[in-house]
Amino acid sequence: MTESTERLIPTGQCFCGCGETVGLGSFFARGHDKTAEAALLAIRYGSSVARLLDHHGFGPKRSVLDAAVAEGGWVICQSCEYAGAPASVRNHCRKYNH
Ligand SMILES: [Zn+2]
Ligand SMILES: [Zn+2]
Repeated sequence: MTESTERLIPTGQCFCGCGETVGLGSFFARGHDKTAEAALLAIRYGSSVARLLDHHGFGPKRSVLDAAVAEGGWVICQSCEYAGAPASVRNHCRKYNH
């Protein structure tokens, strides 16, 4: 988690700007986080994740996955190279018997 997200506090209104009221402790109405993410990607990076990664100094030579494991609380599957949030690695291991 980055410092800026730690300082953010939900306001009761959806952070995508749609004006919807959301439950206490939530930033977004259901699914609106993905929509907002896609919108930001469209206006800042031409909807290109590659450009987003490059902007932040990541790419083929500097793995964003390694950085996520080092700084973002991600974990790596013990049986292969799969990396992800702990919950998604658990799903992966169940699916592939790793
Ligand atoms: Zn919204
Ligand atoms: Zn695996």
